[in-house]
Amino acid sequence: MFEYCSLVSGSSGNCHFIKTSSTKILIDVGLSARRIVKSLEQIGESIEDIDAVFLSHVHGDHTRGLEVLFRRHGFDLYAHESVLEALHLSPNDRVKALTGGIVDLDALRIESFELPHDAPMTLGFRMGYNDKFLSIATDLGHVSESVMEMLRPSDFLILEANHDEELVRVGPYPYHLKRRILGQEGHLSNEAAGRLISRLYKEEKRLRFVMLAHLSEKNNYPELARISVEKILEEEGIEVGRDLILDVAHRDHCTAVYRIL
Ligand SMILES: [Zn+2]
Ligand SMILES: [Zn+2]
Repeated sequence: MFEYCSLVSGSSGNCHFIKTSSTKILIDVGLSARRIVKSLEQIGESIEDIDAVFLSHVHGDHTRGLEVLFRRHGFDLYAHESVLEALHLSPNDRVKALTGGIVDLDALRIESFELPHDAPMTLGFRMGYNDKFLSIATDLGHVSESVMEMLRPSDFLILEANHDEELVRVGPYPYHLKRRILGQEGHLSNEAAGRLISRLYKEEKRLRFVMLAHLSEKNNYPELARISVEKILEEEGIEVGRDLILDVAHRDHCTAVYRIL
């Protein structure tokens, strides 16, 4: 068994749940501890059964619930040492610094890799279980070749489709914020997400499921993200529904629980 559920994902909060036959983990805890506990209950899971929490980076939309959750519930915490430092946590037998990039929890292998984003050591994750790969890449300004290499074997991909570039340009944000979002270390646009998906699908012939995630509240909406990506794929001869499944994560509630294996 290898399952995935997005508890929430968007510019206001992110939390991913992954489950194998023997291991349950969360990636990011960017909403209140109470809401995380409740969301897990909604899919029939308990926070008490979570073995480990991994953090992608220090921004509040990925760490908001950590302090309370960690104080109240027992799990191992994994984050890059610069993120631990920023959160005033020092490594001990429950708090582990992600340095070598690989963590094995029973048969689940979790590999982390750096994403180009404006927070120190922002990480993406690739999880391997019985020859299937689930990857999560959100909060990246562009797709570098090293990111591309890590995502290559993905069967199941959670990918940022943060904004529509035109909506950012004509939108209400001040100039410096627009530059940040559109910059090389900001967030990935719908267009860039579509191009990456098409490249992965064509070059690797493995990708079967994509979840668009981390949508901006002001500069995107679910139907626009879906249509923009579908259009790019269509131009490349890839038909959503026939060649791969495309879904969009919700900002305020959980998705279905998807079975990868
Ligand atoms: Zn961020
Ligand atoms: Zn974020």
